[in-house]
This record gives sequence, C-alpha cells and structure tokens, in this order.
Amino acid sequence: MSAPDLNGRIALVTGASRGIGAAMAELLAAAGAHIVAVARTTGGLEALDDRIREKGGTATLVPLDLMDYDGIDRLGGALYERFGKLDILVGNAGMLGPLSPLGHIDPKPWENVLAVNVTANWRLIRSMDPLLRQSDAGRAVFISSGAATNVRAFWGPYSVSKAALDALVRTYAEETRTTPVRVNLFNPGATRTKMRAQAMPGEDPMTLPTPEEIAAHIVKLVDPALSETGMLYDAKSAQFLSFQRPV
Ligand code: NDP
Repeated sequence: MSAPDLNGRIALVTGASRGIGAAMAELLAAAGAHIVAVARTTGGLEALDDRIREKGGTATLVPLDLMDYDGIDRLGGALYERFGKLDILVGNAGMLGPLSPLGHIDPKPWENVLAVNVTANWRLIRSMDPLLRQSDAGRAVFISSGAATNVRAFWGPYSVSKAALDALVRTYAEETRTTPVRVNLFNPGATRTKMRAQAMPGEDPMTLPTPEEIAAHIVKLVDPALSETGMLYDAKSAQFLSFQRPV
C-alpha cells in the first residue's frame, strides 16, 4: 500500500503514545502530514516525536487526558489559530476497561470506558468538525472493534462503547455526506499491543500482526481521493464493509 502525498496536511491522532495510534502517526508523518499527537504519556509522545523527526517529519505533541473535554475544546481553538483547518482526524485512543460480568462492574470504571471510547470521540467531532470542513478533503477515521457486534460474556463495557462509537461515527458520516468530508470506521482486528495483551494474557503476541502492519491500511482512509463514507474498513479482509441491514 503506497501512501498518498500528504504534504501540507494536518493530521490529529489520538492515542499516539503507543500501539496502533503511534504506528499510524509515524506513517502519516512519513507521507508528509504534520502530526498533532494526543495522549497522556509524555514519554511515549516524545519517543514518537524522535522517530518522526529521524525520518524528516514534524509533529506537535499534546499531552492530554481525553476525559478533559474542555481540553479537547481548547485544542480545537488552538488548531484553528495555528492552522485554520484540520485535514485528518484519527480517533484511535481507547481503553479496554474491566473484563467482568455486568453485575460486578463498578460504576466508575464503566463511566471511564464510555468517556474515553465514546464521549471523547463525540467531543472531538464537536470541536474538530468546523476545522475538517475547512479542508478541501477532510478525512475522519475512528477505530472500532469486532467486539462492537461480536458480543461475548464479560466484555460488556468495551463492546457497548464500540457499538456506540459505530453509531456515533455513522451519524457523523450522514451529517457530512454532501460535503468533501469523508468519515469511516476502521477495524484493526487482533493486533500486537498493550491492550491486546491485557485482554488476552495467555496469547502469544508473536502470532499477531504488528501495529505497523495494521496501521499501513490507514493510507486508504485518509486519501484525499477517497469516496467511501459511513463504512467500516476491515483490516483483515482489506475491504470496506457496509452497515446496510434489511429493515
Ligand atoms: P494501546 O493500549 O496500546 O493504546 C491505547 C492508546 O490510547 C494509548 O496511546 C493511550 O495513551 C491512549 N489513551 C487511552 N486512554 C486515554 C485517555 N484517557 N486520554 C488520552 N489517551 C488515552 O491500545 P491499541 O493500540 O491496541 O488500541 C488502539 C485502538 O484500537 C483502540 O481504540 C482499541 O480499542 C482498538 N482496537 C485494538 C485491537 C487490538 O487487538 N489491539 C483490536 C480492535 C480494536 P496514554 O495511555 O498515553 O494516554
């Protein structure tokens, strides 16, 4: 998969301190985009910055807890002041939360999963939509999961959050359908990251694709020539899937 030319494009990536988000940020930077990298872990962001600079790219680091919704609004204002637009929004940050029967989950961890995986992405859309519309080819991608539809016991908070994210993103896609903005979901499938190791401690990580291998698919979703919107891109089958169901 060869990357489109992203020179002059501004790309905001959440969860860029490690895992899939860091790999996507690095790849977008290598294609020429200026990266606005968001996460809480400053060390991870700085390591990303080093790797981006080594390859001649540029990044702005934004240490931010995405549960700080006012911080998301401030970021939107700062990006408008500095760039006047946003070309690419990658809503990748996510948390697994407790793997537990629904009746055993404490309210706070439940709220945190919904806050990071759903509400923060809505707040990002709310703050960044005017900026994406300023781009000639605004692209928004949000990272879903097979767990959004393949529900299983003990994965309640995560599954519920990813199903809600799907509905959120598809709604945004409908609201922008007649604009140049294209909005899609991305299902990475099992990937060798910290989250996956937390979810499946008994699994041999070496059997899984690396974040770099999975991130390579993002180039299709941020391409200024992309026409698809409101779809789910599945990394495993390397194709766009429709959400259409019989009514
Ligand atoms: P990691 O746990 O490796 O990375 C998660 C990223 O999200 C980190 O950069 C973390 O940064 C960031 N993050 C989490 N909470 C917050 C917060 N409150 N504020 C800001 N940033 C936050 O996970 P993956 O790379 O595996 O996951 C990336 C996405 O892919 C997630 O949405 C996940 O649900 C999805 N996914 C992953 C799969 C897999 O097999 N790995 C499969 C299907 C979907 P920091 O801690 O520094 O804040």
